[in-house]
Amino acid sequence: MNELKNFSYKHVLVLGLAKSGTAAAKVLLQNNIKVRVNDYNTGENSKIVEELKSQGAEVIVGSHPISILEDIDVVVKNPGIHYDNIIVLEAINRKIPIITEVELTSMLASNHDIIGITGSNGKTTTTTLVAEMLKRSGQKMKLAGNIGVASIEVAQNLEGNEKLVLELSSFQLMGIQTFRPNVAALLNLFEAHLDYHGTVDNYNRAKMNIFKNQTESDFLIYNADDPIVREVIKEAKSTLIPFSAKTVQPDGAYVLDGEIYFKGEKIISLTEVVLVGEHNVENILAALSISILNGATKEGIQFVLKTFSGVKHRLQFVAKINERLFYNDSKATNILATQKALTSFTQPTILLAGGLDRGNSFDSLLPDLKHVKAMILFGETAPKLVGLAKKANINIVVKVKDVTEATKVAFEVSEKGDVILLSPACASWDQYKTFEERGDMFIQAVHILA
Ligand code: ADP
Repeated sequence: MNELKNFSYKHVLVLGLAKSGTAAAKVLLQNNIKVRVNDYNTGENSKIVEELKSQGAEVIVGSHPISILEDIDVVVKNPGIHYDNIIVLEAINRKIPIITEVELTSMLASNHDIIGITGSNGKTTTTTLVAEMLKRSGQKMKLAGNIGVASIEVAQNLEGNEKLVLELSSFQLMGIQTFRPNVAALLNLFEAHLDYHGTVDNYNRAKMNIFKNQTESDFLIYNADDPIVREVIKEAKSTLIPFSAKTVQPDGAYVLDGEIYFKGEKIISLTEVVLVGEHNVENILAALSISILNGATKEGIQFVLKTFSGVKHRLQFVAKINERLFYNDSKATNILATQKALTSFTQPTILLAGGLDRGNSFDSLLPDLKHVKAMILFGETAPKLVGLAKKANINIVVKVKDVTEATKVAFEVSEKGDVILLSPACASWDQYKTFEERGDMFIQAVHILA
């Protein structure tokens, strides 16, 4: 077990249980630090509450009384809790520092190399690519963070020279004091999560925390095609490594005449890469830069790019059946994501779309439907999408019950060389619990066809 080095606080309030709060409380207790835990919910936590109590924590659930800040030196806040929470506001008022699990993680993993990846979009894809490239190159590493596993828990169990690869959201990056990844990556900055961060500037500041403590001996990989990223990295003291899908970057990764290069050395041709989509070229450039700086081999990188078919539900290649290519992009819960998917293909495409009706129009999809030959539509928005298909002069338009039926119908109307793409442009909640469930239904239906 790694120890919590350099932790100078004596009495900690862990605010919010869930995965990361529980893990934080346990680690602090194991390091003989006094812990008080608070969560607004009572119901789901009873087992965890008993467990933490038996390990010595003081646990208060069911309300947020201000008295829980009594004697507290620091608050470890669950990334999901907003800064307008009454306890958080009062802690700020009393000048009690507020940190998140990432800060604890970096203390626990102080003897290990840390790779931190953030951005508005592409985090999971890039992080997954890095993990695969390092593994294939024989590097020892563990994956954690926004990708589903509480980073403290993973950091605690790192062995030998294992590296820690972290996918980091803006929520997790708020409240950084000493976190300092050896290699950081800033993929892009779009307006996002303004309900949480209040202003674009606050959101950008949170993301900038990824390089806040870096020095010249650390690397910052950044998207040279993104004007906001180019602006914010001016504050970094790190050694800068740019990547660009548009211009040659002698000090970083770039594309030239359909070939991918890193610092002038050819890595692979784009024609050999399985992942589709222009946005994924950016993710690949970032991932291979991170991986090379962490000891990945060219062979390891090439193997991954020739075989990796995408993170599940994100423009994921599912199968080729009778010369038809099936792609699952169930994560596309808005128009922008579906536009990205549609512009990833030049082949005749059959689009499977529809879902929860948020009252928006789909007209902005029109320019991207040129190579769409059929639309198979389901869910609440099906009637609206039928209207869109008519405007686009698409001949084959079929309304169906759900994704399963849509897949069958799509295959029936398809011809050799077609792409059959699930990219719904809508949330799934009218018919499915999650976008994952919707994507799984598609995969299942494709496998039945096969
Ligand atoms: P995140 O983890 O940041 O949400 P993902 O890798 O899960 O990102 O990708 C989610 C969606 O974001 C993709 O389906 C795609 O539509 C879009 N996307 C992915 N990478 C990028 C990128 N580099 N630039 C713009 N959009 C992207």
